[in-house]
Amino acid sequence: MRRKIAAGNWKMNGTSAALAELEQLGTSLPQNAPTVIICPPAPLLFRACEAAKGIAIGAQDCHMQSSGAYTGDISAGMIADSGATYVIVGHSERRDAHEETNAMVRDKAEAAWAAGLTPILCIGEALEDREADNTLNIIGGQLAGSLPSDVSAENTVIAYEPIWAIGTGKVPTLEQIIEVHDFIRSRLIARFGEDIGNAIPLLYGGSVKPDNAATIFKAENVDGALVGGASLKASDFAPIIAALA
Ligand code: 13P
Repeated sequence: MRRKIAAGNWKMNGTSAALAELEQLGTSLPQNAPTVIICPPAPLLFRACEAAKGIAIGAQDCHMQSSGAYTGDISAGMIADSGATYVIVGHSERRDAHEETNAMVRDKAEAAWAAGLTPILCIGEALEDREADNTLNIIGGQLAGSLPSDVSAENTVIAYEPIWAIGTGKVPTLEQIIEVHDFIRSRLIARFGEDIGNAIPLLYGGSVKPDNAATIFKAENVDGALVGGASLKASDFAPIIAALA
């Protein structure tokens, strides 16, 4: 059985006051809770690791180099030093606003491994790709270009986030989610073999809310969610976690 994961990406939201939400979330986890991960803004990482009970902490990005003259960036080693164990790489907001390429995302995933972190590697098509019926080509290209070869089920999580569904309230149909997740699974098996390909957790992300999570989790190859807006409040994220438990 694949690991179930509920991951929250706080993006550029929250100051130290938001740590209360993390504490509250920790007290509301069901007994058979899936792996729960919260990725707060970088300045909160150390304190989030102290405040989190039963919740893993991740960062939202890392640099591909381990140190150097990269003003404003943070290395995977710095993230690991905070006590965090995950890092999101290749989020579409980074690919878009920071012009991150597949090759950069691959290097970041390898930097994460070198520091002992598990990358949550994001892929997803834009609306024009979807409308041009080009979704699977884009997803296949992103997988081939940004997933390093040394992937294992223990060291990597993949998140499918259609860009047009992020923060818009627009969710793909269950059939659309199934189509892409099944495609990703088949590509993973083709490249890494049955054992590894079948075991890598695949998350769906994009407007996951308490009222649609259970439906999305029905898809066989959806092993959890990467949640933005609805991860900011414990009262919203807890029912999503419960839908996965
Ligand atoms: P929303 O859940 O706010 O749509 O964000 C999804 C996302 O980008 C998570 O990384």
